[in-house]
Amino acid sequence: MANNLTIVMYHYVRPLKESRYPDLKALESENFRGQLDYIQRHYTVVNMQDVIAATRGEARLPEQAILLTFDDGYRDHYEHVFPLLVERGVQGSFFPPACAVREGRVLDVNKIHFTLASSTNPQRLIAEIFAVMDAHRNEYGLPGNAECFDAFSRESRYDSADVTFIKRILQKGLPAPMRGSLIDRLFRQFVTNDERDFAAELYMDDTQLRELLDAGMFIGSHGDQHLWLNTLSADEQRSEVETSLEFMGDIGVPQHDWVMCYPYGGYNNALLALLREKGCALGLTVDVGVADLALTDPLCLPRLDTNDLPNSLDACLAHGEPTNEGRHLEA
Ligand SMILES: [Zn+2]
Repeated sequence: MANNLTIVMYHYVRPLKESRYPDLKALESENFRGQLDYIQRHYTVVNMQDVIAATRGEARLPEQAILLTFDDGYRDHYEHVFPLLVERGVQGSFFPPACAVREGRVLDVNKIHFTLASSTNPQRLIAEIFAVMDAHRNEYGLPGNAECFDAFSRESRYDSADVTFIKRILQKGLPAPMRGSLIDRLFRQFVTNDERDFAAELYMDDTQLRELLDAGMFIGSHGDQHLWLNTLSADEQRSEVETSLEFMGDIGVPQHDWVMCYPYGGYNNALLALLREKGCALGLTVDVGVADLALTDPLCLPRLDTNDLPNSLDACLAHGEPTNEGRHLEA
């Protein structure tokens, strides 16, 4: 018998038009409010604890069950999401990467997003990237620029070929040491020199996370440094998981029945084995779909993006079909 669960994934949620970065791919706060109206009309918002019980056959979820998940630990979530969830008496689940909260570092993924939001011309960024690749071609044995562009520039669900190229070459296309320094350089050039200050504005701190917990929200793991966990060695995977668990323990998250949300959706069998060993109850991917808890491995649950659901009370029921409309933020 089906036991369907829609899991919605959110990233930035903010009063975008009035913000300093109106070109950021974020969900406008008003649209979040409208989407909550829609969700509460057509779905029943469930708690993470109910979902864990359902995957074990200890409980059944209501019809049209939906779980709300918020990735990356943004202060946006504390300021623009948390109050609405409290007002409506529903739970959200939040997944902060440990290093963003504890070390005042801006994640590479965020540096890339804000660089893109601050530069009106992707071609200019591509020219900068190519210049750095030219300078390091021999040292790292890099392929030609045109060849790299062809390999990484596929048009995606939400981005132009140019923007996809920039994201993918910076996220995983270049050798790690070169990639980190190039991202830093672009971030300093186009966004800010003060990373610590920017991080303090961008992410929640541990006091805010404790406040979420105290109010009945759920907090889960998003790793330590927000890496593609499927690309790491066994030791590196273990370090990511253990550092994140330690961080959550410090905030007061129970160490049993914890939940992993894979950065960029990246996981592999070695990671799943490690998570089982550590007592992880659920894993959230970025595979697009509605989960059938009777059939799906609890460590590999699919999600819908906020853009797959309407933003207003009166919209027709979407039946969980991705609509490909609107704006999105990857990872
Ligand atoms: Zn993330």
